[in-house]
Amino acid sequence: MHATDDIRGWLIDLDGTLVCGGRSMPGAPAFLEACDGRFVIVSNDAEHTPAELADDLQRMGLDIPADRIVLAGAFALDDIAMRRPGARALMLASRSLARHARERGLRPVRARPDIVFLGRDRQFSHAKLMLAVNAVRAGAELVVANPDLVHPGPGGTVVPETGALLAALLACTGPVDYRLVGKPEPILFAAGLALLDLPKRTVAMLGDNPRTDGEGARRFGLRYVEIADGIFPQTQGETACPCETGVMALPA
Ligand SMILES: [Mg+2]
Repeated sequence: MHATDDIRGWLIDLDGTLVCGGRSMPGAPAFLEACDGRFVIVSNDAEHTPAELADDLQRMGLDIPADRIVLAGAFALDDIAMRRPGARALMLASRSLARHARERGLRPVRARPDIVFLGRDRQFSHAKLMLAVNAVRAGAELVVANPDLVHPGPGGTVVPETGALLAALLACTGPVDYRLVGKPEPILFAAGLALLDLPKRTVAMLGDNPRTDGEGARRFGLRYVEIADGIFPQTQGETACPCETGVMALPA
């Protein structure tokens, strides 16, 4: 049982916390109901838009509006569009995020980009790597959606994540500065807190991964509540997530 009586709002991780293997966790709908709207999803997802994810969650029985979902990939593009309106962006990303970039006024290009955006690009290739490496070497700003190397896949397999693609890029460029948006960086936590519009001391992060959710909350100055054995705060009796949880992050 967690001491959560004085928590008025929650930032909530998605994978391994609210959902697992394409299904909602057993206690998730009741927990969200009890939050009475005072929550924001904060996820390192680097492939989907909030609207797409809201649809997926609806199919899993979780009614979460898109404007309560902050995703690392889509938010990174929002952030670029604010900082560098109309920027030329080399997109190593899903079609959804390429569309999201255009909707935010960014200009996806292959040559002479201002920005190299790296998300979970399932079409990652030698040709794209060559474009990205040489753009960064020529001075383009590198923006990386999350540092995660792999996610758990079905049957004990692993699925490469954005950090694995970053490792390939850095192997070619050598050490370069880059802007990292996903947890444990504070940017997503700040975005989620702004949407909640509650004092920081009354908000906690609920997650399953001490290296991303926990470390990020600590750095940002938020309380962290770890979901243990699938049991939500102030609820009892749920079963554990059958997935392995947790992701591996690049060393700092
Ligand atoms: Mg998680």
